[in-house]
Amino acid sequence: MITRLSELFLRTLREDPADAEVPSHKLLVRAGYVRRVAPGIYTWLPLGLRTLRKIEDVVRQEMDAIGGQEMLFPALLPREPYEKTNRWVEYGPNLFRLQDRKNADLLLGPTHEEMFANAVKDMYSSYKDFPVTLYQIQTKYRDEERPRAGVLRGREFVMKDSYSFDMDDEGLDSSYARHRKAYQNIFDRLEIDYAICKATSGAMGGSASEEFLAISEVGEDLFVRSTEGDYAANVEAVVTQAPPEKDIAGQPPAKEYNTPDATTIEALVHRVKVEDIAIEGHKASAADILKCVMVEVTHPAQANGEEEKELAAVLIPGDRELDPKRLEAALEPAEFCLASDKIYAQYDFLVQGFVGPRALNSNGVKVFADPRVVTGTSWITGADAPNSYVVGCVSGRDFHVDEFVEAAEVKEGDPAPNNQGTLVLQRGIELGHIFQLGRKYTEAFDVQILDENGKRAIPTMGSYGIGISRMLAVLAEQRHDEKGLNWPAAVAPYQVHVAVANKDAEAMEAGDKLVEELSQAGLEVLFDDRPKVSPGVKFKDAELLGMPFVAILGRAFKDGIIELRIRGQETLEVPADEIADKILELVRA
Ligand code: ATP
Ligand code: MG
Repeated sequence: MITRLSELFLRTLREDPADAEVPSHKLLVRAGYVRRVAPGIYTWLPLGLRTLRKIEDVVRQEMDAIGGQEMLFPALLPREPYEKTNRWVEYGPNLFRLQDRKNADLLLGPTHEEMFANAVKDMYSSYKDFPVTLYQIQTKYRDEERPRAGVLRGREFVMKDSYSFDMDDEGLDSSYARHRKAYQNIFDRLEIDYAICKATSGAMGGSASEEFLAISEVGEDLFVRSTEGDYAANVEAVVTQAPPEKDIAGQPPAKEYNTPDATTIEALVHRVKVEDIAIEGHKASAADILKCVMVEVTHPAQANGEEEKELAAVLIPGDRELDPKRLEAALEPAEFCLASDKIYAQYDFLVQGFVGPRALNSNGVKVFADPRVVTGTSWITGADAPNSYVVGCVSGRDFHVDEFVEAAEVKEGDPAPNNQGTLVLQRGIELGHIFQLGRKYTEAFDVQILDENGKRAIPTMGSYGIGISRMLAVLAEQRHDEKGLNWPAAVAPYQVHVAVANKDAEAMEAGDKLVEELSQAGLEVLFDDRPKVSPGVKFKDAELLGMPFVAILGRAFKDGIIELRIRGQETLEVPADEIADKILELVRA
């Protein structure tokens, strides 16, 4: 098929849109792929829609290849199923809720575990029907706090979500493994540079879970890789390599010191150095200080209940910051915020700047701690009185930890698990997430199936998502250069772009003939036949739009030569009568 640029609904822009910071966002708007309607809400223009549909097709083929059956749920959903799993509440402000004319509550689906579990319950009753994998490619809605970078993080976006149902855990393992392989195929076919990272399971619940992260500096996800072996994990999922417990017996007693003005970790470290304090036999440093970060934890309301707030402390070594995303993941579905001055004022035992674990324990405050605070470790920490700190405060002797939590920042050079060297930090964009959900949803809906022995059993579920619209932004992000986009042939809106940049009627005629021939051979061709547009503008547009092959009938055409530019690579000079074959050869390679 042939699309003529003289007719295509397209206006390319020379200027970056004012609200765009990320290259993919700038280019997709400038090249006329998408257009903003409202924050996080975009229109798909003809070029963008073609790419989106092609990405969908690749995903669809790989899902079909593992036996997935495509269906489509509505995006507009009733409240009840989400009430049943408590996600109507737990999803918080990210959920678009609305009411119909009869005041019935509805929502715009952010993800569809509830609907799929219900559908299986409605339609299946025997183990003979299992396993089954269902999927949809559908528009999802999430009222993201920070919609960002165009379609990279939208409030309306396209996702492929699939769900596996198996009668036993081995079945789930194999469904999960097949999805994992399908995802690898998809990302390999699209030539995406990605890493498979261990992940936390977040609001979904469940156990095994991995994320597919596209490597990109503009990514919001931080992940680690090990210098040896193939360990990779989202920072939220990194498990701290805690030192072994130490003997408490024989450790010197805790001793209090006075520290006028030392209200920060830096000041305290300086103070410790000035006083030449040793701890556990070495000179003390920031890593020996135990920070007590006070937080307020909000537990979500259970059905019809009130949400509950609780004061808690997180103990962290002084050379690290609290990583809010890690703590958030660890506490999910509860949320937290740092304690305000108002909260400090509410409790006499919280001496701001000098809070220590001892007062927290004796006042019944829940104490979370970094895994490095194992029994027997000795710390310098606040002494719960103005200007005073305590040295040699031993975990398990002078204070106790209620719960260990992964909340401290992960640092480059931290040890990797299983002696796989150290950790390196990288940024990525989450493209896909696969979960072994287990029976959380099938139990919530009481999906009862008769097993081989005629007994009732509950199937186990997996849930697997890929961001289709996000993938388009990722491709733009990973493959662009300063001139424009550069699509992989598999999903480019057109495989070939032919531009006539020569005023002679003969060149236009030859162009017409060439696009006709390519189209006859089954290629999708974009034809820049605009009569009054300068060659310079045509070249710029060709680079901006990013088709993988651009044939130019320009100045050299009078000598029988057509330029073939391979986007981002070399330019070939091809005799006019060989150009069609050359293009076909390259496209089909
Ligand atoms: P993120 O951490 O980026 O918000 P998520 O953990 O909320 O992602 P999932 O719920 O696992 O994502 O959704 C599956 C996939 O859908 C993601 O891997 C991502 O590719 C895509 N996705 C999620 N939220 C958005 C969004 N707001 N805009 C575009 N794509 C999204
Ligand atoms: Mg999200």
